Amino acid sequence: AEEMLRNSDRLAVTGQLAAGLAHEIRNPLTALKGFIQLLQTSANENKAYYPIMLNELERINLIVNEFLLLSKPREANFCDTDIRTVIDHVVTLLDTEAILNKVQLVMEDMEPIPPIRCDENQMKQVFVNVLKNAIEAMPDGGEVTVRTESSDQFFKVKITDQGSGIPEELISRIGQPFFTTKANGTGLGLMICHNIMETHGGTFSIESKAGAGTTVEIALPFS
Ligand code: ADP
Ligand code: MG
Repeated sequence: AEEMLRNSDRLAVTGQLAAGLAHEIRNPLTALKGFIQLLQTSANENKAYYPIMLNELERINLIVNEFLLLSKPREANFCDTDIRTVIDHVVTLLDTEAILNKVQLVMEDMEPIPPIRCDENQMKQVFVNVLKNAIEAMPDGGEVTVRTESSDQFFKVKITDQGSGIPEELISRIGQPFFTTKANGTGLGLMICHNIMETHGGTFSIESKAGAGTTVEIALPFS
């Protein structure tokens, strides 16, 4: 019965997501339709429309891509993984973007970590999402710290930024599909993170205060 409940829960969530997706895509589509109609009727081709149209198309592309990742995750591929190397790779990957935004990514010293059973690509996706959010939360630059910590059962990664933080009235909506406070956000990143960590038997949590920065804690079970 529990399994059935879970399945029906999942269906409800999928329906909600599909409705959200349709809604999110309708806006750029309507805009595109309008521009094409304008181009069709105006005597001179207005080149200024093209970048705007491309931008709208890009937005549809982004939303659909993230949505696909979410609704059709590749079969999880769990392997014993050196998680430290995974974190190193992601930090290296995002370093240029960080520097461009005057953000410094600081990795605190890590103790040796035993191999952890996880899907390397999915975990990369989690770290990328979280670090990108941290960078995006600091438009004037700052520092993002990555700390690790082990307890008996869990390996934990804590990622702290000095950004704007999340106002209390928004906390409950964070992680809901398509909820974003960014002009170019999709509002799918955190939902994907939650799903991935759930698949791993781990947890994903956010601690934040408006004006005081944000800490995301990612916990992966040992064994
Ligand atoms: P997106 O980044 O596309 O907006 P996410 O699911 O990654 O979607 O994040 C949803 C929202 O959560 C963001 O729009 C932002 O309001 C909030 N958020 C996430 N991470 C942070 C952070 N480190 N600092 C402040 N706000 C954050
Ligand atoms: Mg994001």
